[in-house]
Amino acid sequence: MKCILCGERKAKRECPAGRARICPQCCGEKRVLEIACPDSCPFLEAGRERDARSYRKVLGRLPARDREIHERVLERYPEAIARLEYTLARQRIRQRDLADRHARDAVDLLLESCRAEDAGIVYERTSEDPRVEGVRREIRAAVESVRRPREGEGMPGLRDSGFPSGAVVECLAFVRALIDAFGAEYGADSAYVDFLARFFPGEETGGAILAP
Ligand SMILES: [Zn+2]
Repeated sequence: MKCILCGERKAKRECPAGRARICPQCCGEKRVLEIACPDSCPFLEAGRERDARSYRKVLGRLPARDREIHERVLERYPEAIARLEYTLARQRIRQRDLADRHARDAVDLLLESCRAEDAGIVYERTSEDPRVEGVRREIRAAVESVRRPREGEGMPGLRDSGFPSGAVVECLAFVRALIDAFGAEYGADSAYVDFLARFFPGEETGGAILAP
């Protein structure tokens, strides 16, 4: 039997999304982005385990000095980074043509705004590109929810320990470094946002990609 998606290769996998059989290559390439994979799919789960290893590998390819800085940030604020990455994942699922460059521009604008804020200057940089601006607003909202959690929706662990000034910039800089690192590793236009879209479950769990 042939795969119902490509019509070419042998259909070796039972796909719970379409209740049909598909080939492993289509399963790997199209999962989450083109197939509405349920989180219970064992192939998806195995894929996410591989993804966590890829993430560690990409992180490991950063220049030594940067790697130390970013690994420390990830250790300190895993929930905050997961919130930022989850936000990008949802944006990618909503917008099929969202690329890493949009995420990069949005993060750069926020880095500028947040660095200015840390210096006591309130000046919100915005983008004229609606795609970039859409992402920027969502990440800004995520930043605010991490920094000033309302009662009952705080990120576990952050409220007690506090979220120091400068930490937001560190977390954004982490995401910024990974956008470039994924691009360098995989060469695709949307390597990082695609990765995030596939990795995070539909419902936010607050879990980081790498357990601290
Ligand atoms: Zn196929």
